Amino acid sequence: MSTLDDIYEEINIAESIVILTHEHPDGDAIGTALALANALKMHGKSADVIIPEYSRCFNNVPGIKDVLKEGKDEYELAIAVDLASLSQLGDCVKYFENAKKTICIDHHSSNNMMGDINFVDPFSPAAAQVLYGIFKAYNWEITEEIGADLMTGIITDTGGFQYQQVSKETFEIAAEMRELGVDIPQIYKDTLATHTITSFKLKRIAYDRLEFFEDGKITFTYIDKKDEEKVNAEIGDYEGIVNEGRNLEGVEVSIFLHQTEKGYKASLRSNSYVNVSEICGKFGGGGHVRAAGVTFTEGTPKQIKEQLVEEIKKYLK
Ligand code: 5GP
Ligand code: MN
Repeated sequence: MSTLDDIYEEINIAESIVILTHEHPDGDAIGTALALANALKMHGKSADVIIPEYSRCFNNVPGIKDVLKEGKDEYELAIAVDLASLSQLGDCVKYFENAKKTICIDHHSSNNMMGDINFVDPFSPAAAQVLYGIFKAYNWEITEEIGADLMTGIITDTGGFQYQQVSKETFEIAAEMRELGVDIPQIYKDTLATHTITSFKLKRIAYDRLEFFEDGKITFTYIDKKDEEKVNAEIGDYEGIVNEGRNLEGVEVSIFLHQTEKGYKASLRSNSYVNVSEICGKFGGGGHVRAAGVTFTEGTPKQIKEQLVEEIKKYLK
């Protein structure tokens, strides 16, 4: 039996299913989770999607209204999507650990293969594209709503089709979804183009603080709790700040720190050759070659910056 047959079998026999994804969910996390929940529903299977917090830019993603903040004590089957490691589940890790069977559907090269069954395609630009392949393999119909969920994942994780991992298939999926009636321009506008006023204010603080290192090849900036309080920030307002550094001419690696309950969450992005997943891996995190992250439970922004710059230096040409 293939991995996809195994997944099909587990879904079929499960009495209760929970769908999980990483904390601070991005569009791929949300879109993939909801596409799966909507597809399961069409096949007579109900599943709880548990996502405690998400940005309101995702308020139009089909199925978002049914998302739960908390679930039942125990599910027979837990399916995690867009998740590279268990530590990224936050408080939701209990649902994964209490489940009798676990499945992971993902696209991170650093995936820890923590499920009983793992379907991971590190060449795919989005977990949503991996899920699209699964639906096709099962011959499951993709409705306009499921298509909008999938496109939310694909558009956000490719930054609007701009990254190298975008393949011919990615554009073919987009064409197919457009044909179905999915409003791709609106999804782009909601999730990538529109910035809240408070996120603009945060960005202004981060810009002011931006520092360059190693002849302008590295940029660093951060946002802490005090900044968020000052501008009355909402969930997800810091999203995208890391790209501002990366998009500056001559920069290879951009570092952005964001203060959380656990310490500082670092986001790293690279432009053409530095493997930031490997760098984050050295500090206990991971991700993709050009986009990765790690949480530092100790240290000030200055200390974390020094550690990261020291490590990144080794990779620069
Ligand atoms: P972001 O910087 O947008 O939070 O994350 C970039 C990529 O790295 C995402 O695909 C995300 O899943 C992954 N990532 C972020 N933080 C961590 C982490 O702490 N551990 C692992 N393994 N991956 C992470
Ligand atoms: Mn993803």
